[in-house]
Amino acid sequence: MPICPKCNYEYVEGITKCPDCGAALVSEEFYVRPEDWEEEDWEVVFTSSVEYEVEMLRDNLEGAGIPAAVLSQRDRNFPAPGDFSIVKLLVHKDDVQNALNFIEQIKNQPPDQEEEQ
Ligand SMILES: [Zn+2]
Repeated sequence: MPICPKCNYEYVEGITKCPDCGAALVSEEFYVRPEDWEEEDWEVVFTSSVEYEVEMLRDNLEGAGIPAAVLSQRDRNFPAPGDFSIVKLLVHKDDVQNALNFIEQIKNQPPDQEEEQ
């Protein structure tokens, strides 16, 4: 599974460049997490199976000055059929409350370009 060393984000096989930042992806065995990446300091504030939804929230949070990370984990031990994956949005413990408020705001915003029939 190729991983972006900058975004710490997993991609599917076959992708060699991060669509997000343009960095060359490395394979899992060469991937080193940043030193300041302490998993216990991060908390999941949002999960979805829709990847772009999580990425959109991350961009919004980072735009608001809240560092956020997207983790896409395909659980290989999970015997689900098909392309089952859960995408998680993580923020620092200190930012959890801010992030939750922020996400709430975004979720309550009326959609911009919904077509009404
Ligand atoms: Zn990247």
